[in-house]
Amino acid sequence: MIEHVAQHGVVGAGGAGFPTARKLEANADTFLVNAAECEPLLHKDKELLLHHAEAVLAGLKVGMRCVGAGRAIVGIKEKYEHVIEALAPLLPSGVEICPLRDSYPAGDEFVLVYDTLGRIIPPGGLPLDVGAVVANVETLANIGFARPVTRKFLTVAGAVEEPVTLCVPVGAPLSALLDAAGGASEEECAFLLNGVMMGRVPSSLDEPVTKTTGGLIVLPGAHPLVARYSRSAAAVDRIGRSACDQCSFCTELCPRYLLGHPIEPHKAMRALGFAPDKDAWIAGSLYCCECNLCSLYSCPEDLDPRDVCASQKPAAREKGLAWSGAPEDVRAHPVIDGRRVPMTRLMNKLGLNRFRNEGPLRAEALAVDLVVLLLSQHIGAPCEPIARDGDSVREGDLIASPPAGKLGANIHASIDGVVKVMNDRIVIDGRGC
Ligand code: SF4
Ligand code: SF4
Repeated sequence: MIEHVAQHGVVGAGGAGFPTARKLEANADTFLVNAAECEPLLHKDKELLLHHAEAVLAGLKVGMRCVGAGRAIVGIKEKYEHVIEALAPLLPSGVEICPLRDSYPAGDEFVLVYDTLGRIIPPGGLPLDVGAVVANVETLANIGFARPVTRKFLTVAGAVEEPVTLCVPVGAPLSALLDAAGGASEEECAFLLNGVMMGRVPSSLDEPVTKTTGGLIVLPGAHPLVARYSRSAAAVDRIGRSACDQCSFCTELCPRYLLGHPIEPHKAMRALGFAPDKDAWIAGSLYCCECNLCSLYSCPEDLDPRDVCASQKPAAREKGLAWSGAPEDVRAHPVIDGRRVPMTRLMNKLGLNRFRNEGPLRAEALAVDLVVLLLSQHIGAPCEPIARDGDSVREGDLIASPPAGKLGANIHASIDGVVKVMNDRIVIDGRGC
């Protein structure tokens, strides 16, 4: 079973892109299905559970058998009552649903493991450290489909005519997604890839979809988030030095701090202003999951503790500042439940309430006639091309694989067409096919 998953090129589809076959080599007592989907405006996991539950559950059965788990839990927001109702009768024995509060970041693996199992992953650790394996809904569907991964599910939302969840060929250009959502509803727009909290600005709409693309958010050019994402590292540094009043709201609401991890972003800000090399202040940055809650929600001064933490990680690693406590001493903050950030408040703070918060799955897959498949689109070594210039390929044909003995995942043709091999990518031109 693990070999099939490896052959089909399945990777973590929730954003991490870790090769799934390697993950399934582990042993765990519990398999967790991450259906928490907490990025505002994204709907693809919930839609997949609604329309492709058989594939998700087939993948889950494979996953449970591979890791030897006798129990599985589907962590899904309690607000999706209709999905829970539809899913419940289909669950095989040993699989249960854990309804989650509608808060951010419910989909963070550490938060999900705590909310579903009551176990705390130690700082810098993995779910496996507490007997769990976590997989995203789409990752399991890709196992369950039992075919090479050539399609990606994602949501297009925000300032578009028709917010929608699409099934698209891997390698399709972002511009095709925007067209499929009826185009932008505003004249001047900006774009965020994979979400407003943990996403990034794409280089252009020619950028291709990868196996980890989760969504395209369209924002009016004048939206405050556009300015936030355009802030340079120098500006983050300069404003942070002068404006942080050490109120520590960023720390008090940090989801990892609330799990008892040694992260205190207000100290990272203190280091920025006074002592960039002070070990005790920068060490905690290593345990930041970059959820962006501190920067986009908690900080009353509109500062960027997330970026500051991220920028301090290399120095902290270089100094070998790893946490060395005992896992049994890591305890959740006594008021962790009272400090969850409700999605409604987050959406309000981010100025997203004006957009339709929906993304129904379109039944038919999007058709494109040219795809660009990046040779590096997952964790591990970039793939090496197998197909050669001028080869004719069919969807599902193997066109690139990881170097022998290296971590990685196979890449398959996502449409029928003719291959052109370039430095870091393979283009398949399906025009005329
Ligand atoms: S919330 Fe903002 S102002 Fe307060 S300590 Fe954190 S970064 Fe500084
Ligand atoms: S981004 Fe901010 S809130 Fe999120 S884990 Fe890092 S320090 Fe904590």
